[in-house]
Amino acid sequence: MKILIVEDESKTADYLQRGLTEQGYVVEVANNGPDGQHYALQYDYDLIILDVMLPGADGFAVLRAIRAVKQTPVIMLTARDRVDDRVKGLRDGADDYLVKPFSFLELVARIQAITRRGRGQDPMQINVGDLQIDLLSRRAWRDGRRLDLTAKEFALLAALARRQGEIISKTVIAEQVWDINFESNANVVEVAIKRLRAKIDNPFKHKLLHTIRGMGYVLESRDGEDGAT
Ligand code: CA
Repeated sequence: MKILIVEDESKTADYLQRGLTEQGYVVEVANNGPDGQHYALQYDYDLIILDVMLPGADGFAVLRAIRAVKQTPVIMLTARDRVDDRVKGLRDGADDYLVKPFSFLELVARIQAITRRGRGQDPMQINVGDLQIDLLSRRAWRDGRRLDLTAKEFALLAALARRQGEIISKTVIAEQVWDINFESNANVVEVAIKRLRAKIDNPFKHKLLHTIRGMGYVLESRDGEDGAT
């Protein structure tokens, strides 16, 4: 897995390069827009992390130049006060974005999600009963109503939905959504499930997120509590 980081702030670039290298990725860094564009077009990367504010050519210009030629997955880094940038980036063909300052684990989770998707194993949209999950725009709806989910809640929902109908243990959920050692964070999954359930199930009669005592959780649409399936 080869990743290109296009970032002019050397502190951030060094930190990301070190962290991602420790995670087993091969990482190259470009410090400005033109270099980033040159590397991106000249070489083949599995993923590009692209800052918006860059000297020489901004991230959007670099993204458009890349998209004109290739479909390498791109995660854009945007500043907190530039909400419009996220919309613009996604419209211009970015696969995802992160708002600075972001947690390193969140970045790793996004990279993993995108590279899994790139292998063609994941559909872009998953339906569970009347629940619709769009993995690209990271949005979800139930009964046609948009669900207001945090990034973590969405990641949790996506992890369950990708394996709908299967029981997923708390340990597996913790690994996929938090990338942490579950033993030291025993309540995190339970609390997150409770919050997610409050949003996706509590307002609705037909429940989709089920607790399997002692085993984990399963997201599925069941025909009725008398158990047709
Ligand atoms: Ca910058």
